[in-house]
Amino acid sequence: MRCFKTIMGLRTYLAQHRGSQSIGFVPTMGALHSGHGSLIQRAVAETNLVVVSIFVNPLQFGPQEDLAKYPRNLEADAQLAESWGASVIFAPDPLEMGIQDENTGRSLPKTLVIPPPELTVGLCAAFRPGHFSGVATIVTQLLQIVQPHIAYFGEKDAQQLAIIRRLVQDLNLPVEIKGCPTLRERSGLALSSRNQYLSDTEKIEATNLYRSLNAAKNLFQTGIGDRGSLLKTVTEQLSQTPNLKLQYADLVDPQSLQPLEKIETSGLLAIATYLGETRLIDNLLLRHRQPIIAIDGPAGAGKSTVTRQVADQLGLIYLDTGAMYRGIAFLVKEAQINPTDEASVAELVGQVQIELIARPAPQLTGVKVNGRDVSEAIRTPEVTALVSAIAAQKAVREVLVNNQQML
Ligand code: AMP
Repeated sequence: MRCFKTIMGLRTYLAQHRGSQSIGFVPTMGALHSGHGSLIQRAVAETNLVVVSIFVNPLQFGPQEDLAKYPRNLEADAQLAESWGASVIFAPDPLEMGIQDENTGRSLPKTLVIPPPELTVGLCAAFRPGHFSGVATIVTQLLQIVQPHIAYFGEKDAQQLAIIRRLVQDLNLPVEIKGCPTLRERSGLALSSRNQYLSDTEKIEATNLYRSLNAAKNLFQTGIGDRGSLLKTVTEQLSQTPNLKLQYADLVDPQSLQPLEKIETSGLLAIATYLGETRLIDNLLLRHRQPIIAIDGPAGAGKSTVTRQVADQLGLIYLDTGAMYRGIAFLVKEAQINPTDEASVAELVGQVQIELIARPAPQLTGVKVNGRDVSEAIRTPEVTALVSAIAAQKAVREVLVNNQQML
């Protein structure tokens, strides 16, 4: 494993290895634990070269917060990261990141990334002014330095994850953001570098965070999804541990982070508490979720027939993704675009409006592209011959997968 402290060193190394390698990136503040390990191991499984950054970011700490005492141990972190399969550690200091003056050691003013206000009024942001702008600024800088294909963030920091997804979207950063589930101790306590501050007794008391979230989840599973009932359950359960001082408990939309009065499809239940001097956060995603069943196989194997029957019997929506790819293949043919000219195909797919039309059996799923019903035209042998090559293109997949997720 290689360890770099300078942007120059890291960039030179990555330039030598970028080529056909996919780069995964896990930004951290160090004091690594198995929660970080789960992100790193996922990155190792999904990409060829994994960079882990270790930077205790001064911009995200308030004046009264624990910047000075935040645990730091680069050597132990490097060993752990290596054991999880990381290829590179990037551990710059504040000078290298351009936020400290070389001569005076004072903080330097810096170009800041300010997330949209609606994402930074509630939850932790209400109590940590400037925190998320500090996070967004350094994460943007790190993404620019590493230029990974995929970057991994924990769902434990749900507000941070929502803000980073939004900044990547708003600034068109060429990276995919993946959220990873919160890793917990057996007791339910979410792993966190700050757990090092807790005594053994406090560690037991802290398990009540997760218990309170679960109490609300149990209520939700009985069909009660309104804000008042869920938050009351959380706060009542938390009050069983007098040393846990609640800072906030909230129910918000997981993407927009706007307060929810009632969970229609999904809601993020988030809490922050103090235990002594230590601030602890946790959250749970509550959702009504229909199962998703994917059926794949070679062309002509009968996927559509089987899928439709399964959907009918289970009362699920039948989503014929193949019909969408056929819709794009049809447009490529009609516009006489060379199917190997990926840029032109991407330009076309970047502007397309595509809709599926449910039709009774034995008819196959219909499609509207740009408002036109092309249900019959997409089933011709010419389109069938073209569709695999079109579906393999990154831009086509990106746009259509996005579209399918919206459905
Ligand atoms: P930090 O070092 O606290 O900035 O965390 C670095 C990354 O690890 C962030 O994306 C966190 O959300 C993630 N992370 C921290 N704790 C956990 C955990 N218990 N499970 C999963 N991811 C975590």
